[in-house]
Amino acid sequence: MSARDEYRVITSLTNDTIKSVRALHMRKERDLTSAFLAEGLKFIGEALDLGRAPRMLLVGEEARPHPLLDRAKAETRKAGGDIIIVTHAILEKISRRDNPQTVLGVFDQAYAPLDSLDPASAPCWVALEQVRDPGNLGTIIRTADAAGCGGVILIGDCVDPYSVEAVRATMGSVFAVSITRTDPEAFLAWRKTWPGSVVGTRLDATVSHRSAVMRQPSLILMGNEQAGLTDNLAAACDVNVKIPMRGRADSLNLAIATGIMVYAATDET
Ligand code: SAM
Repeated sequence: MSARDEYRVITSLTNDTIKSVRALHMRKERDLTSAFLAEGLKFIGEALDLGRAPRMLLVGEEARPHPLLDRAKAETRKAGGDIIIVTHAILEKISRRDNPQTVLGVFDQAYAPLDSLDPASAPCWVALEQVRDPGNLGTIIRTADAAGCGGVILIGDCVDPYSVEAVRATMGSVFAVSITRTDPEAFLAWRKTWPGSVVGTRLDATVSHRSAVMRQPSLILMGNEQAGLTDNLAAACDVNVKIPMRGRADSLNLAIATGIMVYAATDET
């Protein structure tokens, strides 16, 4: 028996399994299955390093041998997941790209409940109110990972962190960063127990982010791309700050502003 015979081989675009993987582009299907799609060996390697084996590993028939691919197959099999060999055309359809990655994984979503978070475990945390752009959210998750933040808290009606676009923008950090969903009321109640500084970011703030006292663990609140941080949440902050802008731009991009804030809040000097 050849190695290929150990796996299921699918060549039809209309196969039900392939249809269900393609459906993960839709939020409704992701919510229903609590699953998401991650593309490429880098992502799959990140997941495996953090003990997250895929439910399903899809391998293009043209995928080159690689030690990480062998590990992914072994760990998928050990965790009881499916390994499926697929054609290039199927990978293109699933990824909606002309030049798809040759290895894809379907993973379980993981949300950390608000009351399970340990603020003292990290110097900084990020809370986002009604973030709408998947690229922004993915970039923020990646930045939070790089800066050593404890996690990202999504308040209210936010874009899905497990959308294909958001996951791509995380560059694999989606597996490393704790993600929490909550509503404004629960957040405001929980915030009362926060042991460090709660810092809002507003364009109308008079305090510069550099001069504000940020006691660790800092909880940084960022607003929606259009409407900014609501008065309700801003009022619950210890301080609201503005990142000075010297040109004609009237605001920074949300992900850039978050990056500036989390590095300021975690600065050792
Ligand atoms: N029109 C919105 C407003 O009035 O707030 C602009 C929102 S801005 C594109 C999105 C978010 O990025 C803001 O809510 C804030 O959290 C953050 N942000 C952007 N530029 C900022 C700055 N210069 N200082 C502080 N926060 C900023």
